Amino acid sequence: MKLKDIGEFGFIDKIKHDALIREYLGLVGIGDDCAVFRVEEGKSILLTTDMLLERVHFLREVMTPYQIGYKALAANLSDIAASGGLPKEAFVSIAVPEDLSLEELLELYDGMKELARKFDVNITGGDTTTSLQDLVINIALTGEIEEDLALYRSGAKAGDYICVTGFLGDSAAGLDLILNHRKEMHNFPQLIKQHFTPIPHIEQGRAVSRSRLANSMMDISDGLASDIRHISKASKLGAILYEERFPHSEEFQKYLAEFNPDYLKTAIGVGEDYCLLLTVSQQNYARLKEVLNNLGHQFYNVGEMAEGEEIHIVYKNGRKAILELSGWDQFKEH
Ligand SMILES: [Mg+2]
Repeated sequence: MKLKDIGEFGFIDKIKHDALIREYLGLVGIGDDCAVFRVEEGKSILLTTDMLLERVHFLREVMTPYQIGYKALAANLSDIAASGGLPKEAFVSIAVPEDLSLEELLELYDGMKELARKFDVNITGGDTTTSLQDLVINIALTGEIEEDLALYRSGAKAGDYICVTGFLGDSAAGLDLILNHRKEMHNFPQLIKQHFTPIPHIEQGRAVSRSRLANSMMDISDGLASDIRHISKASKLGAILYEERFPHSEEFQKYLAEFNPDYLKTAIGVGEDYCLLLTVSQQNYARLKEVLNNLGHQFYNVGEMAEGEEIHIVYKNGRKAILELSGWDQFKEH
């Protein structure tokens, strides 16, 4: 069966059920001209949107429709986490190629819905059209945050510790396994999972914003080496990263030992970690670490903000150098 067999409205009927998990008075979801939802006083609405194109952001040959749907929403959720907010309403627009079956399309929505359910997100609306060749998904996601708690990239201060809320490089290692070492994939389930179905750090982002202890925050989508530049630029500061502090999972270490990839490129140059990158003053660092650790979350100090505008790295052997991005660009898939 194909989308055209039941048409857009038939399709809407099929995806409508289970899409709203927080029905409330005044809410209008999928199926009307507009979706309507309430804005509470004292709260800011966050809105983020991401478009994913087949062959540009993902390969249909190596991802199941479920994984594509899941990951498309995960990337958006991670952006809401980066502001410290709570995700609320998702709008999913999709361009469907001829060779994607209705079953596959519904599976893609199943992946999205599973993650949506986990984080109390409604799939509130969207648009569906046909595509001549590639699958395209655009998700717009709203979130809410108390007006005075939102965190931005621009708030970092000189001397702030630079911290991350998860291991670095697992997703990049997972991608390398998927593309280049398929026979070994089953030995690295966590790396594969981290690449296909990462859990966005919504809880961590909320804990950070509610603590009022951090000065700036974003999420790591392009890799620490690239993303720290956004905080630096927005805050008009430089940064120093310490290679020996980069946190890694056991599976990542095993992957390094077995395949000997370019370490820095894999750890901080590829990205899709979807953990949070934040800065906190030195005096607030221990308290914030305690807040996150007490909730069972990871929290690692990987460097500090500095005067100037350069990004430096201190290698394990103690040598300090400017961290260049060139040379990794061709490796990046997106
Ligand atoms: Mg982001």
